[in-house]
Order: sequence, then structure tokens, then C-alpha cells
Amino acid sequence: MKQETKSHVGGLSEELLSRYSGPCPRYTSYPTADRFHALNGIEPWAALQDIRSLSLYVHIPFCRSLCYFCACNKVITHQYGLASSYLDHVLQEAQWYRDKVANVPVTQLHLGGGTPTFLSDSDMRRLMAGLSEIFELHPGEGVEYSIEADPRTLELETLDTLRELGFNRLSLGVQDFDIEVQRSINRICSADQVTELTVAARERGFESISYDLIYGLPKQNLSSLHRTLNKVLDLQPDRIALYHYAHLPHRFKAQRLIDTDLIPSSTEKVAMQLAAVEHLGKAGYEFLGMDHFARPGDELAKAAHAGMLQRNFQGYTLMPADALVGLGASAISYSRDGYWQNLHRLKEYTQAIGEGKSAVCRGWLMDDEDRLRQWVISELMCRLRLDKRLVEQRIGVPFTEYFSEELARLQPMFDDGLIYQDSENIIVTDEGRWFVRNVAAAFDKYLHSQQTDAKYSRVL
Ligand code: SF4
Repeated sequence: MKQETKSHVGGLSEELLSRYSGPCPRYTSYPTADRFHALNGIEPWAALQDIRSLSLYVHIPFCRSLCYFCACNKVITHQYGLASSYLDHVLQEAQWYRDKVANVPVTQLHLGGGTPTFLSDSDMRRLMAGLSEIFELHPGEGVEYSIEADPRTLELETLDTLRELGFNRLSLGVQDFDIEVQRSINRICSADQVTELTVAARERGFESISYDLIYGLPKQNLSSLHRTLNKVLDLQPDRIALYHYAHLPHRFKAQRLIDTDLIPSSTEKVAMQLAAVEHLGKAGYEFLGMDHFARPGDELAKAAHAGMLQRNFQGYTLMPADALVGLGASAISYSRDGYWQNLHRLKEYTQAIGEGKSAVCRGWLMDDEDRLRQWVISELMCRLRLDKRLVEQRIGVPFTEYFSEELARLQPMFDDGLIYQDSENIIVTDEGRWFVRNVAAAFDKYLHSQQTDAKYSRVL
């Protein structure tokens, strides 16, 4: 990795960066998934009997080639039979939920991976038909069907199939348009491919097209990022997710193929992030949460204005449901009572399901304290503020009394201008937004009371 240089980056001082840019959870859940443990007879799915709406997630782990930056649970293969057989197991797993969620409308469906569009069109139809037999799927107005797609392999015919099946949101993994960067991560994808798919998806009536971009990749620099952003802006996606590349080669084997010397330094990465926010902001995109952007009319932007932004394992989202059922290897589900996660490895998952067993291997049972902190962290991450009166209504004692330790942890952030408070709210400042994970972490009971082997990604 490159040497850090002493500088002031976009108004963030070296002191702030050294104090707050280190490893910290991303809070796609609370408690964080590294805390999950064997359930030993505990059944957090029992609360499914009380729900009135459901999110459904299906994990399709297959990809045709390995991207070196990848941190997803995926299987690189050219044997299509693996995917077809996996689908049988997913549909078998889905049967387990038949009675538990009978008559509950699915308000949000997401296919993630891996590469969900690895599935053939006929298997995509088979998946949706199988799910429809078990879950209350009613695609159409007000229901969000989204899918992650790899622009290198997505066919126009598949777009037709997806629309026909009710998908209305498409997320394209763009990452970066620069050929040198693409070579260094083993993911060559031309701007023409992305352009063709974007135009075709719009013609077919996809309501929202989202691009995933990454900064901090090997060989990236400020000018290559600007060129990528200019191409992105030509195509005007409705949403952009701009993720920070977290280089964790001890955790993700694929990342060992990346030449560490080519990765921009933390200072350069911060400069890229700040420049990207400015670039996208000038082009009219709204900055949501800590890493999402949306055009002003997009539902995600509207949800943010209405204080309805949510955060889940896919990042920022809208359309909250009472529970999430995740199907497939490593998928996580949650209900009011807690979380449960499937076996991670494809072989273990298919073996368990094939033997008629549950694929659930670990999870977490929530208590009232967890639920309170889950809500507090969600408010900070999604709304960038915390209404202390609402907290007091829930706990029945003064905020300062209940959260005295947390306020002590927050004090340096007050002193550094990352947050401020009035009589009603704790508010994250523009500068504090970069470090909102640190602000949320002050309320993470387990981070401060229990050891973990987890290696969190850096904040910046
Ligand atoms: S980045 Fe996406 S396409 Fe590439 S290996 Fe990972 S999951 Fe597969």
C-alpha cells in the first residue's frame, strides 16, 4: 500500500482521519453478524406468525469469473448444472416457510449474489414460479422486485424475462470504467455494454436503475475516478452506490491476487470519496446515508426526505417489511425476535437441505435492549440524527441517565464537531457523516463489552 502523505483532505484534518478512520462495523444489522452464535433450540423465526408484510431475499452464489476485489459469498464455475441443482435446494428450503408466512404479502423481493443473472431464463422462471407457490408474490405497483446483474454477461432477452416476471429495479455492478483498473481487478466491462443495458432496461420499463461503483481499487486515482463518474453521469442512473474497497486479504482469498502496492493510500481514498460526493452533488444527485446517491425524484431520495430510509444487508433501502426471509447459502433472515443465518458453503447448505434438515447454523435472539439499540443505530445511520425524546418514550427514563456511558464515548465526537445536540436531538454534522459508523458504534453494547475475532473494514 502507498505511503500516507501529510495533508488536509477535503477539509478533513489528518487528526480527524487518524482518530476515526480505522476499522468499525458497517451496521447492516444490530447486533452485527459476527456476534451470531449457535441457536441451541432458540427459534427467532417464531415471530413470523405475527407479521403483516415480508421481504424476501434469494442468494444465487454463482459467477463465471473471479473479480479480485470480491468479498461476496460466491462460487466461480462454468458448470451450469450446479446452479440448476442449487435452485432445487432453494425451493426445497422455501417450503419450510410455507406455513410460517401463509397469506403474508411480499412487499420487497431481492435477488443477490454472486450473480443472480447467472441463472438461465428458464430457471429464473422456475425460481419465481416456485416462490409464488409458497409466498404471496404480487408483482406490480408499490412492490419492489430488484435484482443484481453483471453487465458483462446480462443478455437483452433476460431483461425481457425479468420484466415479464415483475422485476422493476435493476442493479448493475459497474465498479469502474477505467481499463487499467478493470485489468487489475480482473473485471473487463466496456462502457458500451453498460450503456446498451441501461437504455434497454429503461425501454423495457425498469423504474429504477442503480450502479454499484467502488473507490479505492488498485490503479485508481482522482482523474480516473472523474472520468468514470463523467461516463456514469452521461447515463444518469437513478441510484448510485459508491462503496469503499476494503482490502481484507486475510478474510477474502480473492483479494490476495491484488497487488497491495497498487492500492491507493487512505488519504488518496478519502480524497476520492470527497471528490465523488462533490462531483455527483454538482450533477444533481442527492447524497443519502453514508454511501448512496439518488436522483431527486427517485423513491430512495423521497424515502430519505420522509425519514423512511432503512438499512439492511443490501445497504440502504426503502419499503420496510415486518420481517425478512433469506433463502440460499449464507442468507440471513430476521424477525422482531432476532436473526438466523444459513450455512455459508454451497456444499454444506445443499447437503443439509438435501437431507431434509434445516440449513440454519447460527443467529441471535433479540431482547428489548437489543431492539432499542438497533433502532438508535438505525436512526443514526439512516436519518443522521437521533430524537432523544423518542428514546425516552421507549425507556421511561432520561436519555442522559440511560445512555451516560454512550454519551461519554460520544464526547470526543462532540468536541471534534462530528455531532452536536440540542434539547431534542443528537445531530450528525456534514463532517460527521463520514464517521457516522463511529457515532453508531458508541451505542453498540457488544462492541464495548465482548471480544470478537471479526476484522471490520476501515471507515475511510
Ligand atoms: S464481484 Fe460479483 S461477479 Fe465478481 S466474483 Fe464477486 S460476486 Fe461474482
